Amino acid sequence: MHFVTFSILVCCSLGLSWANDWGYPDLDDNTDAAFPDWGGLCDSGKRQSPINLEAKWSLRGKFDELKFHSYDTHQKNLEMVNNGHSIQIDDFDDVLMLNGGGLAHEYEVEQIHLHWWSEHTINSVRYPLEVHIVHRNRLYPNMTMATNFKDGIVVIGVLFHVSNTPNEAIASILKNLGDVKAYSRVNKPVTVANSLAVSDLMPESKGNYYTYAGSLTTPSCAESVIWIVLTETLPVTLDQVEEFKEIEYSNGKQLHNNYRNLQSMNNRAVVLVEAEERTNAAAGRTASIGLILILGLAAQKLFL
Ligand SMILES: [Zn+2]
Repeated sequence: MHFVTFSILVCCSLGLSWANDWGYPDLDDNTDAAFPDWGGLCDSGKRQSPINLEAKWSLRGKFDELKFHSYDTHQKNLEMVNNGHSIQIDDFDDVLMLNGGGLAHEYEVEQIHLHWWSEHTINSVRYPLEVHIVHRNRLYPNMTMATNFKDGIVVIGVLFHVSNTPNEAIASILKNLGDVKAYSRVNKPVTVANSLAVSDLMPESKGNYYTYAGSLTTPSCAESVIWIVLTETLPVTLDQVEEFKEIEYSNGKQLHNNYRNLQSMNNRAVVLVEAEERTNAAAGRTASIGLILILGLAAQKLFL
């Protein structure tokens, strides 16, 4: 499975204008509320995201290591904004660059935002939080251009599991939340008071992930995203997740959920990549356990 195929540049100018008043269903009153039609590609696309990632239906893949440049550098002047659909962080001091893996190009971090609960599910399990680290292919000068190409964007998805230990990186984002929570603060960025390294929002193990060709999960739903959803999850407390739900998207209305419903697979390939050393270590363990069992049985026979 080569993502080189994604580098076939298919230009697909949308030619549509998008209303800004799209939103998520209010699940407070009715947990079965229908998901709204967002129109355009969101309704008619065939490579939409998010999807359920199922180990048993995924192809096994081995790629070179993904390479992360400057992700562990503390960013001192980040901006944070309540855009009415999420909390977004951008304006990085350094160029954070991703290459390697199955990627044919270099990608640069544009922004980070969060979804509560998770958009992707793994083996049909939904997680309380999903962070999206959005990257632009450096061949294209801006995100608008990048959304016109199949290899335009890489999004790294990081899922969080419920824990009773607060997550420090999430805590440092939450410290600034009070300044952007209110509806009157929508689309008015503030400077993040404390520094944050993007790697703080990522697990240790970045070599194990699901990857597939999909879309943005918000309008325009452009089908320009190579998804990399890491399989190792990070801890977060439910109290921390609840704080995000306090941001307002309209006067007095809080954004209690901002995840899109699962989309059809349409026979797409999902590749489960596992780091070489981990697979070898696991295989090594299995072999030695097998050997111990055989030796144990032989010993029993000898002494009977
Ligand atoms: Zn997102």
